[in-house]
Amino acid sequence: MKYILLVLVFALGIAVAFELVRALRTYLKFRGKRIVSCPETHEAAGVSVAAGKAAAQALIGAPHLRLSECSRWPEKEACGQECLAQITEAPHACLVSTIVNQWYAGRSCAYCNKPFGEIHWHDHPPALVDEQRKTVQWNEVPVENLQKVMATHLPVCWNCHVAETFRREHPDLVVDRHAEWHGLSR
Ligand SMILES: [Zn+2]
Repeated sequence: MKYILLVLVFALGIAVAFELVRALRTYLKFRGKRIVSCPETHEAAGVSVAAGKAAAQALIGAPHLRLSECSRWPEKEACGQECLAQITEAPHACLVSTIVNQWYAGRSCAYCNKPFGEIHWHDHPPALVDEQRKTVQWNEVPVENLQKVMATHLPVCWNCHVAETFRREHPDLVVDRHAEWHGLSR
């Protein structure tokens, strides 16, 4: 009897662990900000899936995906969320982090020409620079404008972003005004 009980507890433990792994995988798959083509306007919209809710639903069956935010809300909050089909079809490709990492891949800083290599977003993340040589960080760019910004800006490393910001904000304190510029002449 004791043996049967142990086997049952073990089997139950395995089943629970399996469900938890499934929930975790669902969460990891759907978390993060994404860009979709809004089915109504055919323009870019920044969205997030309610990944925590989907993970909880995955514990008891198939998750029913819903958005937790969209750049077209609150005006369009009652829409049918048809864009979710794009996310389920290619969850990784429409992630903002994927798109931005691909943008930096194989490129070099517009100022110091240093190749970016692997990006470490938690530590001195790279930035962008516009035609007026004004650098901006990614957290200043609305997700829905990401693709437009990537088309009009060039990549800049963290060090050059900090140096350029200082130059811009304190021109009177900067003697060296001849930083090499590899960007907009191309
Ligand atoms: Zn640089």
